[in-house]
Amino acid sequence: MAARILDGTAAAQAIRAELAPRVRAFTERAGRTPRLGIVLAGHDPGSEIYVRNKLKTAGEAGIVAELVRIPEEAPVEEVLAAVAALNARRDADGILVQSPLPEAMGADAETRVLDAIDPAKDVDGFTPANVGRLVQNRPGLVACTPAGIMELLSREQVAIQGARAVVIGRSDIVGKPMALLLLHRHATVTICHSRTRDLPAVARTADILVAAIGRPGFVTPEFVKPGAVVVDVGINSVSDEALVRRLLPPDSPRLAAFAKRGSLTVGDVHPSVSEVAGALTPVPGGVGPLTIAMLLANTVAAAEARLRA
Ligand code: NDP
Repeated sequence: MAARILDGTAAAQAIRAELAPRVRAFTERAGRTPRLGIVLAGHDPGSEIYVRNKLKTAGEAGIVAELVRIPEEAPVEEVLAAVAALNARRDADGILVQSPLPEAMGADAETRVLDAIDPAKDVDGFTPANVGRLVQNRPGLVACTPAGIMELLSREQVAIQGARAVVIGRSDIVGKPMALLLLHRHATVTICHSRTRDLPAVARTADILVAAIGRPGFVTPEFVKPGAVVVDVGINSVSDEALVRRLLPPDSPRLAAFAKRGSLTVGDVHPSVSEVAGALTPVPGGVGPLTIAMLLANTVAAAEARLRA
């Protein structure tokens, strides 16, 4: 039987609808709308798309999002100066510096920039202060993708307490915070990575399996315990036709979209997992929309907290 689809688009819509009265209440009390500053350095094509989506979705939610562009060849000090300006601005509630920064800014550029962001405005939840608060299970701004997944699991009434959860991926932005959030909800959590031995067997112990790897269709049915809840975080753009044909069934309507566009966005989970899993997030339409909804939620929460402070 095919897995139940966990609809991230619908959950994201619900989150945004719930934010609307909070945005109105803030705007009335503060005499201004919540405001998000997005710093974009360079012209990474993926970043351009992400930032455009963030600006559009924020605008629709009644949040003013302002884009600060930094030239590709600028030194990291220009990004730091943009962050300092947003830190100082009383009407800026949230700050987000789009990753990746241009390579020429140096290997430590991302760390230097994260260290500079005021944690009260850190709507990505990536600063050491907010990560520390997450580790200690204290209130703070939490990374949007894992926070969105927790919202989805909770809205879909997935039982977390006592469940065995396996997170494949240990990045600072997805895997680690995901594991911590599941742990705080009393799951028994295992984190896997590229050096994990016998990964399919470890993954098969999971009642909740989260794939945040960045490899198209990596998680196949042999990774999945029958009935497990599988969360596919992967966003992979694939243009290799042979690979697309391996990933999609021959009657998939998405093949026509691939023929037209020459590329397709696929997840880390192979579609055939749907025959084994109990529930599955689709790509697209699963975790992606939740990430942006949680960015808005963090911006509103940051604005409200600053009003109270
Ligand atoms: P990273 O590249 O930072 O991390 C990938 C992780 O996967 C690493 O921990 C790596 O292990 C692990 N990994 C890689 N290959 C293997 C393997 N063969 N076996 C086991 N583990 C492996 O990626 P991110 O966490 O940033 O993103 C993961 C995916 O999620 C990407 O597709 C990204 O596009 C997507 N994403 C989606 C978002 C959304 O909104 N839906 C938001 C953010 C990311 P090791 O540490 O050992 O190298």
